[in-house]
Amino acid sequence: MSSRTEQPAVTVLGLGPMGRSLAGAFLAAGLRTTVWNRTPGRDRELVARGAAGARSAEEAVAAADLTVVCVVNQDAADAILRREAVEGALTGRTVVNLSADTPGRARDTAQWAAGHGIRYLDGAIMTPADTIGTPDAVFLYSGPEEPYRQHGSVLRALGGTHHHVGEEPGRAAAHDIALLDIFWTAMAGFVHALAVARAEGITPGELAPFARGIAQILPPVFEASAREADSGSYSGEDNPITSALSSMAHIVRTSEAHGIDASVMRAAEGLARRAVDRGHGADGFVRIAELLGRG
Ligand code: NDP
Repeated sequence: MSSRTEQPAVTVLGLGPMGRSLAGAFLAAGLRTTVWNRTPGRDRELVARGAAGARSAEEAVAAADLTVVCVVNQDAADAILRREAVEGALTGRTVVNLSADTPGRARDTAQWAAGHGIRYLDGAIMTPADTIGTPDAVFLYSGPEEPYRQHGSVLRALGGTHHHVGEEPGRAAAHDIALLDIFWTAMAGFVHALAVARAEGITPGELAPFARGIAQILPPVFEASAREADSGSYSGEDNPITSALSSMAHIVRTSEAHGIDASVMRAAEGLARRAVDRGHGADGFVRIAELLGRG
């Protein structure tokens, strides 16, 4: 028997940029990798590298105990998985679903899986496709520990760090949502900053090194703020909400003077004002997290 046939098998459903990276990393680790994608032809390069190209999703999932699904969202994953032939082929096997969606959809999918005797882990990939197979990749999983332990060595072929964040199936997606909340609000701020800077005669290239400096301030601020939020004590000694409010008002005023939509900053300003109106002006900015859920 060749060493290749002794390697564990894995199936990847979905060959967008991320699915191709996942399958490529499995192949690079020497795993027997079967691939399938709704639109034919996307497996060409992977097959040239040694992957088995399945003709159908049911054929693909029957080739391995572990199937990794990575498509645009849960509707797409459902379109692939929730068909009798696929459900039948998956019974007794494990699905790790790395398609992004909401915690609610993850819980619903876990219920569907349980109803068909399929072992199910929901997952989230927190880093771009080009990190897969490198130490920078970050994967989160939620669901039962046992399949995570059983398939952990195969999943680690994807490189990076792997975190089981709890048995409750929605927890990986919940982390994903919270973390993407940070990413997209930051990106909304960045594109707005580019527009305001440009209106003031500053090019994106001129702003970029200073933008990096701002981004580098954030990690210790996040950590200190999380400690405050955990402890429920919101010291605004160095930077009270009133001071943040004043800074935000300058941004709104400058933007609107140039005719630039300031609705993102106005929304943030509105939250800060609500905190001040409720008597929390001397607290730190993170106090707002506590007020948000209270309407
Ligand atoms: P996309 O999010 O564009 O997903 C493309 C894949 O979804 C293709 O395989 C496509 O098949 C499939 N698909 C779309 N609709 C359907 C459908 N109705 N039925 C079956 N298959 C469908 O590309 P990515 O590969 O980049 O992303 C996959 C997942 O990974 C997403 O959930 C994304 O959020 C997540 N992710 C991606 C990152 C990245 O850097 N790309 C980073 C972190 C997470 P077809 O080719 O037939 O259209």
